[in-house]
Amino acid sequence: MIKYQLKCECGKEFESWFSSSKEFDKLEKKKMLSCICGTSNKITKQLMSPQVAIGSKVEKDKQKEIFKNVQKKLADLRSYVEKNAEFVGDKFASEARSIYYDKKNIRNIYGNTTPKETNELLEEGIEVSTVPWISKTNS
Ligand SMILES: [Zn+2]
Repeated sequence: MIKYQLKCECGKEFESWFSSSKEFDKLEKKKMLSCICGTSNKITKQLMSPQVAIGSKVEKDKQKEIFKNVQKKLADLRSYVEKNAEFVGDKFASEARSIYYDKKNIRNIYGNTTPKETNELLEEGIEVSTVPWISKTNS
C-alpha cells in the first residue's frame, strides 16, 4: 500500500491509498481518480513531504562538504607533519623519551604509539599530540 497526497484542479487536497504506484498511474490514465467536488477528475500527485526531502538533501550536501573539508585539512596536517618532523615509526615512545630526557638531537618526531604509551608520555610531561592520520589514497 502506498499513500499519496493528491490535489484536484479545484484546489482541494486529499490523501488516498493505492496498492502500488502503478495502480495510481493506471487510475490516473483512465481518469478514474475523483475528487469530492465531483466536477473534476484532474487529480495530480503531490510530493508527500517536500520540505523534509529538501532539508535532508541540503543536510547531506553539507555533511559531504564538511567531510571533504576535514579530509583536506587532515591531508594538509599530514603533509605538514611529514615535512617538519622525522618519522620514527614504532620507536616513537622511546625516541620521545630520549629527546625529552637527554636533550640531545632535539627535533620533531612522529610515529606510532598505543594509547597507553601516549598516556604514559603525557604523565611524564612529554608533549604529545594525537592526530588522525589520513591515508593519502583517500584524498
Ligand atoms: Zn475537486
